[in-house]
Amino acid sequence: MDERIPAYLQERLLSCYGQETAERIELGYKAVRPVTMRINTLSADRGEVCGELDRAGIAWQNVDWYEQALILSEARENEIEKLNVYSEGKVYLQNLSAMIPPVVLNPQPGEAVLDMAAAPGGKTTQIAALTGGKAQITACERDARRAERLRYNLKMQKASALVMQKDARDLDDLFRFDRILLDAPCTGSGTLELRDGVPPRRMTPDWVLKTVKTQKAMMAKAIRLLKKGGEMVYSTCSILPEENEDVVTYALKTGNMELVPIEDDFMHDFPQLPVKLPGTLLVCPDALHEGFYVAKLRKIR
Ligand code: SAM
Repeated sequence: MDERIPAYLQERLLSCYGQETAERIELGYKAVRPVTMRINTLSADRGEVCGELDRAGIAWQNVDWYEQALILSEARENEIEKLNVYSEGKVYLQNLSAMIPPVVLNPQPGEAVLDMAAAPGGKTTQIAALTGGKAQITACERDARRAERLRYNLKMQKASALVMQKDARDLDDLFRFDRILLDAPCTGSGTLELRDGVPPRRMTPDWVLKTVKTQKAMMAKAIRLLKKGGEMVYSTCSILPEENEDVVTYALKTGNMELVPIEDDFMHDFPQLPVKLPGTLLVCPDALHEGFYVAKLRKIR
């Protein structure tokens, strides 16, 4: 495999997926993806956004599974950043894979929703838009600078959320939420970019173990904070099973949670990698998508 892929990641990809699929993943790491964006329905509609793109001569394409997503195959990010719809927060630049978790979470107006690892806020603002600004959103972020970025993006996108700058593992156990998004900190093994001048990412067994430990602790907290009958989405931008299915299996073993399978029709819209837990989605990095894992769970007791 390409020597810029850290040795430990190469080893894990080959052992989890075999040579052929590991090479497919490698092609995904090398892909130069088009700019993709999400229309912010809190402050704009498709007509306004597509109208400005048309006037600027920027070609756009729809995405079958999500009406608010657009692919701008020919455009560069700096061209988009000059548009009014960008400077006025009417669109949010976001990879298509990163738009999946809030769609699967399916938050409803009036619900109390926790985004446990929220900055820079792509998914928090998407949850706000999906609920027409009518959910009570709490957005937790441990890092102070990233929490500032989150506040800025919420303001830009006219999305309201209570920002809590703290370690989500220390959230008060007295809180209860109807829905939780745990877009967990991860190794980012799905989003590696093999481009000239981009240094290889570090990846050691110890670091993966430490990351998994944090993910499981955050999952345990999410289970405590979810109302009975409430639903959560666990997602990462990693393609390693120890950060994905193994964390979901850990949640299922508590006996408090059941898996809510993601619908087949929806899954078929994505390039997939094999998973041990059917009904969970592992997106293979390709020319359009970053590698991403998404699972949905419900609290049964
Ligand atoms: N959901 C975000 C979005 O869509 O814009 C991306 C989240 S990123 C994958 C993970 C975030 O979790 C990082 O901003 C990181 O600083 C934060 N984080 C890491 N450990 C945390 C913890 N223990 N509690 C809260 N946030 C944490």
